[in-house]
Amino acid sequence: MTAGSLQAQNKEFVSQLIEDYDHYKESRLKHRRFKHLDMQPLLEKLTDQGFQVKTLGQSYEGRDIKLVSIGEGPINILMWSQMHGNEATATMALFDLFAYLSQDSQEVRNMLTKVSLHFIPMLNPDGTQVFQRRTAQGIDMNRDALNLACPESNILKETREALNADFGFNLHDQNIYYTVGQTGQPATISFLAPAYNEEKEVNAIRKSAMQVIAVMDEALQSIIPGKVAKYDDTFEPRAFGDNIQKWGSSTILIESGGYAGDPEKQHIRRLNFIALAIAIHSIAESQYQNIDEARYWQIPDNHRNLNDLLIKGLTVNGPQGAYPLDVAIRRAEQDKNGQLPLRYYGSIEDSGDLSTKYGYQVIDAQGLEYAGAQVYPQTLADIEAAQRLDIAQLMKLGYTALRLAKLPPFETKFPLDLLNSERTPPAWGLLPEQAASFVLMDSGLVRYVIINGYLHDLKSETNLEAHGSIFK
Ligand SMILES: [Zn+2]
Repeated sequence: MTAGSLQAQNKEFVSQLIEDYDHYKESRLKHRRFKHLDMQPLLEKLTDQGFQVKTLGQSYEGRDIKLVSIGEGPINILMWSQMHGNEATATMALFDLFAYLSQDSQEVRNMLTKVSLHFIPMLNPDGTQVFQRRTAQGIDMNRDALNLACPESNILKETREALNADFGFNLHDQNIYYTVGQTGQPATISFLAPAYNEEKEVNAIRKSAMQVIAVMDEALQSIIPGKVAKYDDTFEPRAFGDNIQKWGSSTILIESGGYAGDPEKQHIRRLNFIALAIAIHSIAESQYQNIDEARYWQIPDNHRNLNDLLIKGLTVNGPQGAYPLDVAIRRAEQDKNGQLPLRYYGSIEDSGDLSTKYGYQVIDAQGLEYAGAQVYPQTLADIEAAQRLDIAQLMKLGYTALRLAKLPPFETKFPLDLLNSERTPPAWGLLPEQAASFVLMDSGLVRYVIINGYLHDLKSETNLEAHGSIFK
């Protein structure tokens, strides 16, 4: 069978999944910062829907780590998510997948006679609690496959062994700044069939992983053409993916990256759901075996070339004269102990000739002149007083920050940067790591104001998601 006919077969399956997705979507998971406690009622419901739910053991801080299982088939598939606590996209997709698997359809019943599915939806609940990558012990579990210092690592290893899993799906989130090859497209999904040795050899086990990835890639290309990449396959002797491949389960790493306008990754969650469903279907039907694994190698490598905002060719007037500069800005998520709501902190990622870099948002600043951040001269009492000001007018005058006698709480979102009345201004500028607030002038008039890495175009409408930083 050729790859072409495989695509034709799966096309209908995939379009049906897309059409029906809203029926499966677990509506109680709405964003990436749900906790172990939020997951418990969802797990309890599963036992009434034909799933087995058992406790595998406890995390370092004593949270139960659960295994969800369904199906009686001879092929064992194990999927685990949130080994890194702040990588929650696939966990949401797993709950959508559970709804799909619990429906009483011929398609699903048939599939579950061929495969047995096992899921660990939240492998690192302690990390999830504070939305951090590492475990409560401060260990990156993905470097603990041999050392086994974390109870969570032992649980994963023992579960894989007990199930003698044929397939392992290692579900993560990656940085939103990865691109597909040297294009400006975000790597919305990246795959890897990890190497099991330094030589990066391909045995039958790894080959199967590559083939299943090729099937998923083909399905995703119909939804997000050009936004799928693959990870570098350098052997990492301490990583779980590499070792699980070595221990004999065909291992597939799926990384959820970025997608423009999807900060909570709800579209990417749906893509995960579709990719996982097509993978299970393909494994159940042994269909992946007919795809040429060369398809895997054709998936472009991912590179970290993206930024939230890229400003190209602005003019800086230095003491020795004018010179051109490109500026790349990224906005880092900030939260309060892993809880909502979120804020972002914008800083300079790089500056110089950035002609090889990309941005989710790009502006051509040819002919525009750089002017630094500017603090409004009068100190205001509080945020209420600040809200009474005409912000658009302040921006037009080139102001990027206000001083307040009393700063508002963390969650307050205000368009300008806010400073404590006594504080010396932070390091605003164009050097890497500096806070990203400045002004771009066009023939002596303010054209753009950049505050906390957000672009305000004075010729268009207000940027509603934008907010400044609060400098205490
Ligand atoms: Zn990860």
